[in-house]
Amino acid sequence: MALPRTSTGEPSTVPARVLRLAPEPRAEIERSAREAYPSEVCGVLLGRRVGDGIAVEEVARARNLRVGAAPGGESARSFELDPGALVAAEDRARTLGLEIVGIWHSHPDAPAIPSEEDRRSAWRGWCHLIVAVDRNSITDVRAWLLDRGEIPIVSAPSAEAARSISSFRLA
Ligand SMILES: [Zn+2]
Repeated sequence: MALPRTSTGEPSTVPARVLRLAPEPRAEIERSAREAYPSEVCGVLLGRRVGDGIAVEEVARARNLRVGAAPGGESARSFELDPGALVAAEDRARTLGLEIVGIWHSHPDAPAIPSEEDRRSAWRGWCHLIVAVDRNSITDVRAWLLDRGEIPIVSAPSAEAARSISSFRLA
């Protein structure tokens, strides 16, 4: 998998310090997490690098290859992203003038903290958004750069606001 690239086509080298999340992608992630419960669900984050932050403007849901693969039909408590979804997401990103900026997945009945397996399989430089979900509700949403730690999520009022450079000029 290629490194995320900036709008100039150069690989991103500045680590992101904040993730700005527009309302639509957030709602879609939360809806998917609740639908898939008690299995994990996963997908791709599309957006752009803006300054030292990441703006998420759209999400793609991917097939979790572990769903249905567990013996006895148990729900999937881990995820393996369908590689075909990454290819489709790259196409979609190109069409929209965006890039893939990360991966999202759910943690049913578990905190929104990367598991050992998450850390082992992490793509360096990509943001991992984890949504914690239980039977009744979304309990937490957190963003991680797995080689650096957690970064704050800022709820942007719109996709336009999410990608506005001025909105990254935070104190
Ligand atoms: Zn996980």
